[in-house]
Amino acid sequence: MSDVETIPSFDLKRNYARVGDEIKDALDRVLSSTQFVMGPEVASFEKEAAGYLGSRRAVAVASGTDALLLALMALGVKPGDEVITTPFSFFATVSCITRLGAKPVFADVEPDSYNISMERVREAITPMTKVFIPVHLFGQMCRLEEIMGELEAKNIALAEDCAQAFGAHRARCGAIVRAGTWGDFGCFSFFPTKNLGAYGDAGMVTCDSDELGGRVAMLRLHGSASSYLHEEVGINSRMDALQAAILRVRLRHIETWTEERREAARRYSLLFAERGLREHIVPPSVAEGNRHTYHQYVIRASRRDDLQKFLSAKGVMTRVYYPLPLHLQPCFAYLGHEKGAFPVSEKLSEEVLALPMFPEITEGEQEKVVCCIAEFYKIA
Ligand SMILES: *Cc1c(COP(=O)(O)O)cnc(C)c1O
Repeated sequence: MSDVETIPSFDLKRNYARVGDEIKDALDRVLSSTQFVMGPEVASFEKEAAGYLGSRRAVAVASGTDALLLALMALGVKPGDEVITTPFSFFATVSCITRLGAKPVFADVEPDSYNISMERVREAITPMTKVFIPVHLFGQMCRLEEIMGELEAKNIALAEDCAQAFGAHRARCGAIVRAGTWGDFGCFSFFPTKNLGAYGDAGMVTCDSDELGGRVAMLRLHGSASSYLHEEVGINSRMDALQAAILRVRLRHIETWTEERREAARRYSLLFAERGLREHIVPPSVAEGNRHTYHQYVIRASRRDDLQKFLSAKGVMTRVYYPLPLHLQPCFAYLGHEKGAFPVSEKLSEEVLALPMFPEITEGEQEKVVCCIAEFYKIA
């Protein structure tokens, strides 16, 4: 065993130390109430989250994966429909489409923002296109304004995958508009490692339409609007009250934690510039008008795999999101995409590296991360 001090890629323990007392109070409240599924705690969280985001409605569900699935179910996605999305994302972005028998149609990403290219989306639209699922990857919003008009004209629904973008926003006609409030639906994940994380699985769907919101609320309860009367066949995707109570506490701190992440991102960029590393690595770029929330701080690096091994030996833990684009996953082979079909995504999968990023990361830790990277490229 080595005695190097490890810098984790993510550290929930330090975060828990900051809010543990508040969390325990909240848990106590739920435990004494004995109302463990849905109930007033979940209703309060829905109201508070909708208020923070600026959405008319929020419907709490069991996971981010279910949030996506329920949004597509509410939009009536069925076999024969096409849904456009990115091949450079987490698996659930696409499995929600195939689970309903619809066809995922991929559009490649941009090399600088890692987000889906609106130009490629435009090319992918056909008369069968029913929904567009943009993913606001790593905490930065897509440039949705470039495609909104066309979606509206062609009656294509917009379901934003906001799993990594809670609190991200983008300027639109001079106003600040948060992720999850641009489209018909915003789909959020509160998996523990997300910026707003629960202490287990949880998710949420936001929307402005009472009709669509009501449909999601019904579909998450087996399609039942009133007890034991089923309008249609839904799923069981309720949020439990303990998670809602935890999320209510953590929501009160999300602005502070987001600003801490943004500060850490600024520090990484400065350190890279100071070390003259810009020749070997490309730090994440932020599109004009965006508030990046740095769910991940993802660089592009030459000799990525060797760099990752070197850093790991030095106790610097990094991750690769994502090592295999979705169009090349074995379970989607039936779609017939060959290697080379989405070259930007494929190239990124060989170059991206997520550096340690969490609100509590220290200046000293960041200096060590960058120092080790410099050492790898032999310019220390
Ligand atoms: C985490 C994530 C999901 C799925 O959320 P779960 O809560 O884990 O089900 C979906 N899409 C993206 C982009 C994610 O990062």
